[in-house]
Amino acid sequence: MEEFIARLLDLQDCDRDIDRLRADLRSIPAEMKIHRKDTEGHEAKFTLFRDNLESIRRKQKKLIVDRQDNVTRVADYKSRLISLKSNTEYTAMLKQISHAEKMNGQIDSKILEAMYEEDEAVQVLDRALKERDRAVKRSTIREDKLKNKLEELQSRLSQIEISRSEIAEKVDPKRLKLYEKSRAAGHREVVTGVKDGSCGGCLTKIPPQKTGEIKGGKTYICPLCGSYVVWTSDSTY
Ligand SMILES: [Zn+2]
Repeated sequence: MEEFIARLLDLQDCDRDIDRLRADLRSIPAEMKIHRKDTEGHEAKFTLFRDNLESIRRKQKKLIVDRQDNVTRVADYKSRLISLKSNTEYTAMLKQISHAEKMNGQIDSKILEAMYEEDEAVQVLDRALKERDRAVKRSTIREDKLKNKLEELQSRLSQIEISRSEIAEKVDPKRLKLYEKSRAAGHREVVTGVKDGSCGGCLTKIPPQKTGEIKGGKTYICPLCGSYVVWTSDSTY
């Protein structure tokens, strides 16, 4: 293998690692977002159930006030009974008392109903709280792991970038320029091996005689994709 090809191969290995690391680095924020969304979903559920419980409790308080008012009203009606002069007034007042007492019964059933509702809402809220806490814990662990991974990838990336620039310095500037131009155009395997007797880059058949020369150490430039085709450890006829 020619010297410059060996150097380009080293460079290409570095670039492949750099590409992979960058792709991994790009995937991390999206993964973090998923965990955060999961936590937010649980948080929203918890808030909804908490608001529901609060509204039930407000309703209960109002019912108790209503009941107290009604009890006061009944007592007031009863105290006024003695002072009433006519039968009509008396009968009317009795009717009002009976109505107010009936209202008390209705309020009592509503209070009881609200108590059951409260019990149920407390249980639902408790479950949502536990689920939320579990989700927060889970997400925190995962996010911490992702943060560590991010740091690790970043440090590996800067190490590889240093080696890459060291290798690049040893490559002939013209060859380097061509290599980089080719990669910038989306060509990921500027140096490639022979695969089943074809160019590893674009799978174009290579004449058998040329394949023999490649195996003998000669560099072949693929007329179709422009790759340097060399004999690699995994090359095959
Ligand atoms: Zn090719």
